[in-house]
Amino acid sequence: MAGAMLRHFNEDDLISVLTTQPLDRALDYRAPEGGCFEGAFVEVPLGPRRVLGVVWGEGEGGYDLSKVRPVLRVLDAVPMRQEMNLFLRRAAEYTLTPMPAMLRLATRSPGLGDPTSMRVIYRRGSVDAPDRWTDARRKVVDVLDEFGGLSFTLKELAEMAGVSSGVVKGLVTQGVVAEEASPRDLPYPRLDPGKSSVDLTDEQSVAVQALRERVLSGGYGTTLLKGVTGSGKTEVYLEAVAACLDEGRQALVLLPEIALTSEFLNRVEDRFGARPAEWHSGVTMTERRRAWKMVSEGAASLVVGARSALFLPFQKLGLIVVDEEHDTSYKQEDGVLYNARDMAVLRASLADAQVVLASATPSLESWANVEAGKYHRVELTSRFGAAVMPEMRAIDMRAETLPASRWVSDTLAAAVRRRIEDGEQSLLFLNRRGYAPVTICRACGHQVGCDHCDARMVEHRFQKRLMCHQCGETKPLPAVCPSCEAEDRLAPVGPGVERLAEEVSALFPGANTAILSSDLFGSARALKAQIEDIAAGGADIIIGTQIVAKGHNFPHLTLVGVIDADLGLQGSDLRAAERTFQLMRQVAGRAGRADKPGTALLQTFQPEHPVIRAILSGEEEAFWTAEASERKTAGVPPYGRMAGIVLSSPDVQDVFDVGKALAARTGPLRQIGAEVFGPAAAPIARVRGRHRVRLLVKAAKTAPLQQAIASWVAQVKLPANLRLSVDIDPQSFL
Ligand code: ADP
Ligand code: ZN
Repeated sequence: MAGAMLRHFNEDDLISVLTTQPLDRALDYRAPEGGCFEGAFVEVPLGPRRVLGVVWGEGEGGYDLSKVRPVLRVLDAVPMRQEMNLFLRRAAEYTLTPMPAMLRLATRSPGLGDPTSMRVIYRRGSVDAPDRWTDARRKVVDVLDEFGGLSFTLKELAEMAGVSSGVVKGLVTQGVVAEEASPRDLPYPRLDPGKSSVDLTDEQSVAVQALRERVLSGGYGTTLLKGVTGSGKTEVYLEAVAACLDEGRQALVLLPEIALTSEFLNRVEDRFGARPAEWHSGVTMTERRRAWKMVSEGAASLVVGARSALFLPFQKLGLIVVDEEHDTSYKQEDGVLYNARDMAVLRASLADAQVVLASATPSLESWANVEAGKYHRVELTSRFGAAVMPEMRAIDMRAETLPASRWVSDTLAAAVRRRIEDGEQSLLFLNRRGYAPVTICRACGHQVGCDHCDARMVEHRFQKRLMCHQCGETKPLPAVCPSCEAEDRLAPVGPGVERLAEEVSALFPGANTAILSSDLFGSARALKAQIEDIAAGGADIIIGTQIVAKGHNFPHLTLVGVIDADLGLQGSDLRAAERTFQLMRQVAGRAGRADKPGTALLQTFQPEHPVIRAILSGEEEAFWTAEASERKTAGVPPYGRMAGIVLSSPDVQDVFDVGKALAARTGPLRQIGAEVFGPAAAPIARVRGRHRVRLLVKAAKTAPLQQAIASWVAQVKLPANLRLSVDIDPQSFL
């Protein structure tokens, strides 16, 4: 399959072209002068416009052939391989996504197909310092120093430094910045798989050996690499990457969070002597274009990226690593609804490549696949070196007497104080952004809500605004109650990280506190800088939301305090127990990663809850076995299949009418033994002014769910303004 030849069409042959335009089928064209290959990226006329497409196969014909227009231009890009074509088709079938939307994912390169050209680039010059430093000049040099090996266009450099292009030009005159012509897209430096690496422990060597053999087998396979936090999973899978590069094949490492990439890039550089290609939303247009092109030409051997990197045009993919495979951010929740972990397995199976799913707390889906014999399993059981797993204990909040509007118990506060005295770091974890989740009027009880969504506004005190976490709308804190107009009666209820920070500075005056929350950083760079500062010991107390749970390495951190361990257990999400277990184990795993042992303290009102007990005891196998048996009994994922249908429209009547019409015509679903629940107003019943109604489909594991859903929804005609989206294997039920 991987080596299949692409067909060639001669000039004037009737060919079919799939475009990125939202049409329900491919269109016929004539092959251009000189002919073209199947898979070629082309520009074709569509009405009065020129649009991007890919040669999909032979034309369909069956109508007046004299009207068929020719392809305008074949783009200077490596044709799409059959393996990618098949991947897009299968992914489209699985997620019930129209092909043009899939093609858009596979062509997200700016200026795809533009001829090779020269451009003027800027990098660090030979002169160390200008005659005179200004803040603006300093910023430019900082950017260049930070991104050592990279070069920028004038516009990019000026934008990244936040200065005018005149400042850059001034530095060029002085020789501090060099200006030169360079081909637009340079190949990436070669990674050296043989560069000497670390001495692996026995357990790590066994794991590496297993992964190596699979990579060398040249076929498809998926391995769950399970290992406690700090056990060396990254070291181990980098050896699998080395084996893949040795074979002359390309590798892809997916990370759940772009803030993690810079730390990871440094590790790749240590291991392979050069930096890999990067692919995520924080990458400049120029770098994106270069990455896409070099990947397609096989001139980028390793890509580190976010989920959309799965759609890059690899030539000879040999390995995909999905790091922190349990992370929910692998599920794309808007546009094309796909789970990058599952699509990685699909992509690899079509490319005869290996997949490594790495996690300390794997998803139940992956556990079940290991149990079923579909995935291999490799395990690392102990932390590397002197580091041991943190001791975990509950703080029974029923026994603590906390005054209202305080969240740090005396027990937790005493533990933090001890760390401060010993010069060690503490992390207080609270998965709530902002100052307070609710703002209530003490006169009339009114809760301030969003104008466009059925959601409460969350106070963000640093920004002095209320924010809707659904649509992002913000407004200033009102001076009077919007409902009863009472003055000065609006009060915050409940804690967010900003409010917790206030309590912490009152409890520990003089301690250095840092808040890590996704909304407090304008850019990934600012977040990265903050994380590096913390890792270097720049804070006594870190207050963080779930972004701190993800893989960051803080060597001075020895205490983790979870403010509200019960938070995730509320609600009816079928994965509530699983998510809480994973999150708590991950957060606790931040403590004691270096030589000093760590402790994790969980504040809870229900210390005897089975999930809390499983978290504390660390008896994972028992937890997963119990969780699996509950899901089996209920027939829910991973032992049954589910799909969520969300209808949304500005017209509330329309959404319910269509929902009822669907519920009344479930014939195609009943044929496969599936059940339908709903329609019901979604838990968040209105977002951005659109009313939302949900239906839920449940079926047996083996049922052909997608086909049945496609015929089911095709029966109902949708009003123009109504959107219907199908979410196969939903992760979110909001
Ligand atoms: P994980 O990915 O499982 O959390 P890492 O691969 O990040 O673990 O390893 C944790 C820390 O231990 C890292 O700083 C890593 O460099 C170090 N480490 C792991 N294995 C070794 C080894 N064999 N030799 C030297 N350092 C190691
Ligand atoms: Zn809103």
